[in-house]
Amino acid sequence: MTNLRQLFLTHNAQTTRFPLLLAFERAEGCYLYTAEGKPSLDLISGIGVSNIGHSHPKVVDAVKQQAEKYMHLMVYGEYVQAPQVLFAQKLAALLPQQLQSVYFTNSGAEAIEGALKLAKRYNGRSQIIAFKNSYHGSTHGALSVMGNEEYKQAYRPLLPGISFIRFNEVADLDLITAETACVLVETMQGEAGIRVPDVAYMQALRRRCTETGTLLILDEIQVAFGRTGKLFAFEHFGIVPDMLVLAKALGGGMPLGAFISSNTIMSAFTENPILGHITTFGGHPVCCAAGMAALGVLLDENLIESVAEKEALFRQLLLHPAISEVRGKGLWLAIQLESFDLNKKVIDRCIENGIITDWFLHCSDAMRLAPPLIITKEQIRHACNVIIEAIAYFS
Ligand code: PLP
Repeated sequence: MTNLRQLFLTHNAQTTRFPLLLAFERAEGCYLYTAEGKPSLDLISGIGVSNIGHSHPKVVDAVKQQAEKYMHLMVYGEYVQAPQVLFAQKLAALLPQQLQSVYFTNSGAEAIEGALKLAKRYNGRSQIIAFKNSYHGSTHGALSVMGNEEYKQAYRPLLPGISFIRFNEVADLDLITAETACVLVETMQGEAGIRVPDVAYMQALRRRCTETGTLLILDEIQVAFGRTGKLFAFEHFGIVPDMLVLAKALGGGMPLGAFISSNTIMSAFTENPILGHITTFGGHPVCCAAGMAALGVLLDENLIESVAEKEALFRQLLLHPAISEVRGKGLWLAIQLESFDLNKKVIDRCIENGIITDWFLHCSDAMRLAPPLIITKEQIRHACNVIIEAIAYFS
């Protein structure tokens, strides 16, 4: 394993000077296992992907079956490939009538790119409104709509015509005008340290977009598929977006993203120019088969039903004077500590003690909790004991 770590550091591109360097041989349910068989309880679902747990046998089976039939046949959008069609139909059946046309991509960032392009093409406008402290991915377009200067400054020039407004601030909604092509917003902000907006705010945002003919794009890449206690997070707010962007848990552990709109909006890609958005691997049949199986497990096993109860248990157990707040919704929580220094020490100790957690990109003094939804109450109690012990150790 030491050798593998060295090879990783030498031959795999490094994105920080302090990678975690954890090495696991297999994963199952809520646990990751080292080659020596030591289990670690996964409290972040790597990140926000394994909502139904790792390597669910039904997903593994779907992958095997589809791989045996065919893998890649043709670029997206030309051939009728059953796994894509059936998964799109399944998603559409679970979504409101305004969201019936699915464009599958390989990742979240690519789905964001497609959604932004579609909005501009659909209403012929070029201005985009995004949010302070937002995160939508790392490609040039997705980076352009990220609300954190630190990550963007080295890569300018980025996309023009983007303004940033404050999340959950009604006063800023006036900046959405008849020139705005779209508003791109996380239904609940994730990397900002999990910020849940007010229902009245989200409804006012929806109204303002409708008044100005602006497309409302909800990024639910982290929050969908039961994470917040509803299948889709917008269901908490009584609104429907013009476009919905999904990824992460969508593929059940396989790489898959999607942006979803009405057929009318999506048809803007078919003309002037034709082939308005193309991808070779988007909606890969094996990934769609995996996503379909994962969604089946989520629904058939009623995994969303117990999310609120499990959230309550976390909140009941995560009490310590050093925790100033536990924020979030469902099994998607941020434990607010006083500093990055304390947070990092606590996280490292938790990891040493077999509990995997993390901080947030734009909120390094809060600890991330996003376990698989199948986590049991016993596992929650154990995890909270380890977290509180670590906080007490350093406080
Ligand atoms: N949007 C949100 C809210 C995310 O959390 C992420 C990833 O963390 C992305 C977009 C980008 O997704 P991907 O990493 O698949 O490109």
